[in-house]
Amino acid sequence: MSDTFPGYLVTKTEDGQIAELRQLSDADLMEGDVTVRVEYSALNYKDGLALTGRAPVVKRFPLVPGIDFAGTVETSQHPEFQAGDRVVLNGFGVGEVHSGGFAARARVKGDWLVPLPEGLSARQAMAIGTAGYTAMLCVMALERHGLSPGEGEILVTGASGGVGSVAVAILGRLGYRVIAATGRSEERDYLVGLGAADIIERSKFAAKARPLARERWAGAVDVAGGNTLANVLSQMRYGGAVAACGLADSMELPTSVAPFILRGVTLYGIDSVMVPLARRIQAWNRLVSDLDLELLEGLSQEIGFDELPDAAEAILAGKIRGRTIVKIPD
Ligand code: NDP
Repeated sequence: MSDTFPGYLVTKTEDGQIAELRQLSDADLMEGDVTVRVEYSALNYKDGLALTGRAPVVKRFPLVPGIDFAGTVETSQHPEFQAGDRVVLNGFGVGEVHSGGFAARARVKGDWLVPLPEGLSARQAMAIGTAGYTAMLCVMALERHGLSPGEGEILVTGASGGVGSVAVAILGRLGYRVIAATGRSEERDYLVGLGAADIIERSKFAAKARPLARERWAGAVDVAGGNTLANVLSQMRYGGAVAACGLADSMELPTSVAPFILRGVTLYGIDSVMVPLARRIQAWNRLVSDLDLELLEGLSQEIGFDELPDAAEAILAGKIRGRTIVKIPD
């Protein structure tokens, strides 16, 4: 690669921040013991916030956004990696406090890298990306709780989005009866194609929740928080579990202790950013075995580098279906 390479840079301005596509050089990258030729990145909800500045996701300036990427190691001072190794990275504050994947080159700590699992291309890894990997972490939390197919219906909220689509696909393939909550009823065929048994209107979860409602769900994956999560909790069956990872509805959680103390419901918090390496590797390997790669292709779209600003607006407006792969130019 030549001395300069294309990349987005977020810089501070008087009234906030701005993200611009520029020619960058190694001097624009941050400290690290491995440099990676980034081949693919992805657009996640958090990247939408970082590119638009809509929320203070970027905490160090100037910074290359992009919370995940996959590519090939160019140089390494890390004992575990050498030039030519195929790697994937997500989390650890990359794209927030350390420059990330929206540039053709990244310099990071080798401790943050995961070898690209056998059987997965860099493009497929980014079709999964942080959102899909978080969906897997949610499923693994429900499994550790003891949930198995046949115990009852599993609800997935925000089902047409990135986390939701992959969660529906994984749970469907594992044999669960999945009900997909969505605000986009026109996506019924898409969601059934991914593995949902049925869909449910997300407006049914929008009103203020009662402490307890009719028991329905054996388990749930929630990306929404707010009244959505409060209603899900009040509808959980005795001993059921919810894996909560997002705030697409709200950061608030207007609920009561009733589901916990009267129905023994468990709420698992899912963080993808600081997950220890062993579980990270386990999740990536599970994605290879438990996610149908043809379905993955069907729930993904690829965009060019220059389309990122518009796509960032679209993901914040809830207008993007499934996952968005970003092809990084040379
Ligand atoms: P997307 O934007 O792809 O999907 C979010 C989906 O949520 C939308 O597609 C929509 O689905 C649904 N939604 C939007 N607005 C509302 C609302 N007001 N009430 C209920 N549902 C709503 O984002 P991702 O899937 O990438 O991420 C989902 C959430 O998970 C985000 O909040 C993100 O920040 C968080 N996240 C957290 C991680 C962690 O480490 N904890 C990691 C990754 C993501 P539909 O149209 O089908 O209703």
